[in-house]
Amino acid sequence: MYLSKGITRVSTRTPEALEQLQQETLALIHRIEASDHFPTKKTNLCRWCTYKPLCPAFGASENAAREHAQAIQENNEIEQPRLL
Ligand code: SF4
Repeated sequence: MYLSKGITRVSTRTPEALEQLQQETLALIHRIEASDHFPTKKTNLCRWCTYKPLCPAFGASENAAREHAQAIQENNEIEQPRLL
């Protein structure tokens, strides 16, 4: 569902297509988890991003997000996403 417009989209898939989608999604998850390079991409979605204060595209240093993550780990804190 696209919340901003209240539009619901529905798709149907064969079991084989669903299996393929699952495999592709898992492969993408593994690639993301194995990566440490996440270039910024400024779009209209940035308006809702809670990470903007840590984002180089909005003036934060290149190391701001890494330092924030390290501080969380060192303090044994579990970062809770903020509700908008
Ligand atoms: S503000 Fe958020 S969504 Fe936009 S580029 Fe930065 S991290 Fe990505």
